[in-house]
Amino acid sequence: MQVQQGRVFIDRLAYQADLLAALTDVCKKENIRLGYFSVIGAVTCANLGYYDQQNQEYTDCVQMDKKLEIASCVGNISLKDGDIFVHAHATLADHDGKCYAGHLMPGTKIFAAEYVVHELTGVEMHREYDSETGLSLWLRSKEF
Ligand code: ZN
Repeated sequence: MQVQQGRVFIDRLAYQADLLAALTDVCKKENIRLGYFSVIGAVTCANLGYYDQQNQEYTDCVQMDKKLEIASCVGNISLKDGDIFVHAHATLADHDGKCYAGHLMPGTKIFAAEYVVHELTGVEMHREYDSETGLSLWLRSKEF
C-alpha cells in the first residue's frame, strides 16, 4: 500500500537511557504512529534477542556488559494493542570490528545515540498475533 512521507525528527538520545525506551518515548511524545528510523552511536551494554522459530519465543542471544558501537540500528513504528510500538534491530561492533546483531531488547544502555525518525502517513498498521509464526505481525491496516 502507498503511504506519504510525514514529519522528520532528528536529535540525540540521553546518555545512559535505555535505547529502546528512549526511541519509544520520542515516538510517543511526537505521536508518530507509523514510520521508520535509524540510529548510530555507541552503547555501554547490550541486550539483543533472537527469535527461536521452533519454540516461538525470543531468547537473549547477546547480553553483554561491553562498550560497543551502534554500527546500525534500524526499525519501524506501528501500532500494537492501540499503542505506539517500536520494532528495532541493531548491529553492534566491538573494538576489533566484530559485530553482534539481533532484535533490540530492553537493557541496551546509551553512551551516545543520534537518530533520524521519519513519520509515514495515510495508513495505520496494526500488529496482531499471527498463529503461524507466534509473532505480532502487521495483520491489519486502516487507510485514512
Ligand atoms: Zn525483531
